[in-house]
Parts: sequence; structure tokens; C-alpha cells
Amino acid sequence: ERLGVALVGLGQYATGQLMPALKETKNCCLAGLVSGSKEKLKQYQSEFGLDDNGLYSYEDFDKIADNDQIDIVYIVLPNSMHAEYSIRAMKAGKHVICEKPMAMNVRECEHVIETIGQTGMHFSMGYRLHFDPFNREMMRLGQGEKFGQVKKITLLDSMDIGESNQWRLDPKRSGGGPLVNNGIYCIQAAIYITGKLPTVVDARFADKTDPSKFQGLEEGITWTMYFGDEVIADCECSYSKNQNLMRAEAESGWFELDPAYEYEGLKGRTSEGGMDCKPVNQQALQMDDFALCIITDQPSRVPAEMGLRDMKIIAAIYESAEKHSKIDLYLNEFAELSE
Ligand code: NAD
Repeated sequence: ERLGVALVGLGQYATGQLMPALKETKNCCLAGLVSGSKEKLKQYQSEFGLDDNGLYSYEDFDKIADNDQIDIVYIVLPNSMHAEYSIRAMKAGKHVICEKPMAMNVRECEHVIETIGQTGMHFSMGYRLHFDPFNREMMRLGQGEKFGQVKKITLLDSMDIGESNQWRLDPKRSGGGPLVNNGIYCIQAAIYITGKLPTVVDARFADKTDPSKFQGLEEGITWTMYFGDEVIADCECSYSKNQNLMRAEAESGWFELDPAYEYEGLKGRTSEGGMDCKPVNQQALQMDDFALCIITDQPSRVPAEMGLRDMKIIAAIYESAEKHSKIDLYLNEFAELSE
């Protein structure tokens, strides 16, 4: 018995990655579509052989409560809509996968978590790299101290955004620039390589080369995360170049992915040679794992609390860059989320 997934928002990620992944999943399948475009609904309805009653506009989204074919609602909308649709989906009795970042700010994340508590629904972030074997190997090598203790980490995740990414360049809909879109992966990686939480962040905005394009958000940002006195992670993300590196230097060797954060084509190396990992469909594994979590009533390995934790770190990084000073973090309550 497969759980039914409804995709909310039929943009690039939903149609380019999640729909193909839902043709490979074993524990779930596409059962609903939510879009403002009748043409898109029709196109994908016929591709996936869906009934008319699996199709929704944003206006009649709440009627999804009456559809027992849909178990999971996957929010793939601009960031400003994540919290609202997560909450509406849970109030309609549906489990939720929410794309990153979890919401626009810490307060919204907390509101989503209150709703999880009130409704008892399962919730997962769309943090696909936790299901990728190359990234899991970085976790194993780092947390398992295979080359001794990790001392220094370098994380670069930048993409040249071009001109077409309308909502990402609108701070009211994105909540920020490359830090919330790409840098969130660097934050995640630093934590899952070390198995520790950052204690201090120190950030600087990059100078803008195109101030009119990047109004109200950063074009680029660099920051250092300190993990107690032991580990330093140097991070950079930008919307005006391309970078894709995850590298850890430990006491007796190093290990890295380059590219590190892509959907496919990841490559890993260590100071001893290659990294022998089998590529997977990250999104298919991620959705199948969540379906199993629901069936067995276990929490997701990428739960709402992790989305909130990352939002707290993002807020501290922005505060540090604005104030030109180090900011202390107190994240002890998230210690068990360091996978
Ligand atoms: P996109 O612009 O291609 O898609 C967004 C969709 O939302 C569009 O179909 C658009 O029509 C719809 N929409 C509804 N209301 C809208 C509004 N008011 N303004 C703009 N669009 C509106 O974006 P995307 O790249 O598919 O990103 C969607 C979400 O998925 C984002 O939260 C993003 O961070 C996330 N994402 C995650 C990954 C990943 O690897 N996990 C990759 C890409 C995107």
C-alpha cells in the first residue's frame, strides 16, 4: 500500500525533480496536484493518469481534507508560502514535507511546530542530501573520526542566478538571498560532518556588483562557524558565481565532495583515494523514507526542529553580517539533531 503525495506548486523543482522521483518511489506515489495554472494541472494529470478530484487550485486547497487518496502534502512553493501551506495542510489532516528553508523566520517555524503538536501530523523537511550516499559518507567519515578529529571545513555553494528567478530575488517572497537558498546546505553540512552544533558565527556580506538586481537581499555572504574551540567551518555562498565544494580536513587526512550539493553527478575523494558510493535518486529515497516514518510512526530524520534550528543559525549569520561582529549561538536543545 503506497501513500499518496500531493505536490503544491508545480515549478521547476516539483516538475523537474519530484515528479520523476515519484515514478521511482516504492512507498508513495503521486496522488494530487495543486497549482494556479489549469494548463499545468491538465498536462501532468494526463502524464500521471490522475482523477479530476486529485486536482486543486490554491483557492480550493483546503478541500484536500476530503480526499483520502492524499496522505502527504509536499510544499514546493516560494519560501513565503511554506508556513501557511504547511499549517493549512496539517489542519486538513495531511502529513507534510516542506521544502527548504522551512519558513521566512524563526517565529514562523515555531508556529508550524505548534501546529504539528496540535494536529499530531508527521512533518519532514525536504533536506534531500541526508539520503544521498556521498553526503552520508561525509557524515560517517567526519562523525566517525575515520581520519581523526575534523579540524577545518570548507563549504562553498553558489549559483549564478541569472535574471529569471523572480521570487528568489524578491525578499518578501524569498526571505533572503543565497544564504537561505544555498547557504542552508553549508550550515547543514558543517553540522552533519562534525556531529556538533555551532557555538559562534562570524559573517560578512560580499560587496554587491549589481545593487539594482540584489535590492533588499545579499548578493553573496561569507561566514565562519565555530564549533567550540575545536572545529572551524569557512563558508561562502553567492548568486553571482558557481561553486559546489564540501571539504573536511582532519588530524590525519582529508575528505571532500566536488560537486557536493547537486542532485546527481556527485564526486567524492579522500586523502587515501576515491569515494566508492553508488548514486541514487535522492528525492525518491527521501520521500520513501518519510512514507515509512508515517507507516511506522517514527519521526523523520530531517524533522521540523531541524528546520527551526537552521533558521536560528541563518538569523544569527544575518545578524553577524549586519553588526560586523561575532554572534553566540545557544542551540543545546537541538543536540540530538546532529545526524
Ligand atoms: P519555481 O519558481 O520554479 O516554482 C515555484 C512555483 O510556485 C511556481 O510553479 C509558481 O507558479 C508557484 N507559485 C504560487 N504562488 C506563487 C507566488 N505568489 N509567487 C511565485 N510563484 C508562485 O521555484 P522552485 O525552484 O521550484 O522552488 C520552489 C521551492 O522548492 C523553494 O522553496 C525552493 O527553495 C525549493 N527548492 C528546493 C530544492 C532542493 O534541492 N531541495 C531545489 C530547488 C528548489
